Amino acid sequence: MTSVALIKSGLNAAYFSGLTHILRKSLRGRGTIFCLHHVVPPHIKRGEFSPNAKLEISPEFLGEIIRLVRKRGYETLSLSDAIARLDEPESSHKPFAVFTLDDGYKDNLTHAQSVFNTLNCPFTVFVAPGIVEGSVELWWRGLEKIIAENISIYVEIEGFTHSYKTQSIAEKNKAWDILSSALEAAPELAQRQIIRDLAKRYNIDLQAMCLDTAMTWDEIRRLSKNPLCSIGAHTMNHYAISKLAVEDADVELVNSRVTIAEKLEQSVEHFAFPYGQECAAGPRDFGLAAKAGYVSSVTTRKGVIYDAHKNHLQALPRVMISGRYSKLRYLDAMISGVPGIIINKFKLTNVT
Ligand SMILES: [Zn+2]
Repeated sequence: MTSVALIKSGLNAAYFSGLTHILRKSLRGRGTIFCLHHVVPPHIKRGEFSPNAKLEISPEFLGEIIRLVRKRGYETLSLSDAIARLDEPESSHKPFAVFTLDDGYKDNLTHAQSVFNTLNCPFTVFVAPGIVEGSVELWWRGLEKIIAENISIYVEIEGFTHSYKTQSIAEKNKAWDILSSALEAAPELAQRQIIRDLAKRYNIDLQAMCLDTAMTWDEIRRLSKNPLCSIGAHTMNHYAISKLAVEDADVELVNSRVTIAEKLEQSVEHFAFPYGQECAAGPRDFGLAAKAGYVSSVTTRKGVIYDAHKNHLQALPRVMISGRYSKLRYLDAMISGVPGIIINKFKLTNVT
């Protein structure tokens, strides 16, 4: 069974066993922070090579999720209001649902915003100045395009040349699995050099790809004027903070907050760690984020928010809304807190 199938069957089992229903009240905690990326109308054909489809959901599905959490008794709050709630007793409030979107893609403005507006739902968009200005190589998008457009590719990593057939969908998926893992594991500067070399060899304009998909400063400014929207920081260059030397990590954290605040003429209180899993953001980085002046930082560590997170505001977990699990019942299971508590070995927080 693949890992995706395993997760799906686990979520299904949790949902249908009724376990989530019984435990919902005790384990759902104070609320859930959702993590999204792209919100776009469906455009991917069944069976097509589209490894990044997991980062996309449709506007309709976003609306369904907001309606579902409200039906379950959740109140949709901004990140700031949700954090303020942690200082108040649980008994005086409904659980909260917070919607956050990473990277600052154009579709957040053109598609997601109207869903949030229609349903009067607050949301936070985390932007990285380097993505806005096109200087960040969105390597996962570049790699997908290179594999999609070629029938074989070769790549040089640490002085070794690796060749892959990329003709059939199965071959493309296999090459993606190997190369995306290798790029994710590589040191940040080496990773960017590898994708730049590949892009040059296969005629891909990484800067144009980035600028095509990212909001401009003017667009972010327009979005930030929406009273439902708050803008947070996501580093300057979308680096995994834990892979950087402490001085470089500090620069990414501080400069992104200062740059975005200057561009938008408003304070920036919240941060999202790029990639955000345990290997991309650890205890050293939570400390740096606090020192850089953030009120809170979100990760992609799994789980919901408990009272105990009041003492760990720089290491907040999120529930990923992924195209791969685009079924309401999976999200319904996730907000119950049950899958997170199992993943976190029966601890309420995962901050080490
Ligand atoms: Zn990101």
